[in-house]
Amino acid sequence: MSNADQYLIQEQPYYRPTADEVALFEAAYAARMPVMLKGPTGCGKTRFVEYMAWKLKRPLITVACNEDMTASDLVGRFLLDASGTRWQDGPLTLAARIGAICYLDEVVEARQDTTVVIHPLTDHRRTLPLDKKGELVHAHPDFQLVISYNPGYQNLLKDLKQSTKQRFGALDFSYPETAVEVDVVSHETGIDPKIAEKLVQIAHRARNLKGHGLDEGISTRLLVYAGHLIAKGIAPRAACMMTLVRPLTDDPDMRDTLDAAVATFF
Ligand code: ADP
Repeated sequence: MSNADQYLIQEQPYYRPTADEVALFEAAYAARMPVMLKGPTGCGKTRFVEYMAWKLKRPLITVACNEDMTASDLVGRFLLDASGTRWQDGPLTLAARIGAICYLDEVVEARQDTTVVIHPLTDHRRTLPLDKKGELVHAHPDFQLVISYNPGYQNLLKDLKQSTKQRFGALDFSYPETAVEVDVVSHETGIDPKIAEKLVQIAHRARNLKGHGLDEGISTRLLVYAGHLIAKGIAPRAACMMTLVRPLTDDPDMRDTLDAAVATFF
């Protein structure tokens, strides 16, 4: 298996389009435009990139960003081994070399001095300087950069700089509309669509509380978790407490409110 082949997605990922995002992404890829996927956690951004990488037959290299990540974690570093020092490409460099789609998940988590290393890859230069190694990598013609970004978490201290933001075309993501979300939850877990519909209704209640005591609503991912537990024979109410209420908040009043919402459906 070649280096690139191991990053190819062999089987079609299940993805239900919610608008014209597939056509827009295809056009952006054809133009090799960097793309930013904006939306709350667990609403289908990662699944969408997997689907698009499969559809476009490109390898996909995903990096989960965090605040301890340094530029070297993306670009690469020298390692010491028995024969001396050896350069090891980081995931971004590897993606640029093999013509993969590089997906930087939650890029805002990374420090700004880390984020700027992507700049020369996102404009006409399409290059990545490996300063420590003294090499300038010219990105493979098929390389594309995709980042995800959750606007809900941002504050003045933690946001992408305009100079970074304005290097991307952006697609807005949000939780799928009811019928699609019901399909997603029942398809992913095998539960009856009528039960899935109730889970989605509970999520709608919680999503209305965003900004009124909740930082985020119940995500599609959590609904899928609830569905998995129910499919394993757990009583729906207990499954919902564990997956839809407890992860979301520690506030006792808010938990009571959400528990009550669950109780009206199950
Ligand atoms: P994000 O990257 O936005 O945090 P994910 O892509 O991991 O979220 O989505 C979480 C889960 O939600 C997926 O594993 C999948 O089961 C489900 N999901 C959400 N939206 C869709 C969709 N449009 N089609 C198929 N599955 C979806």
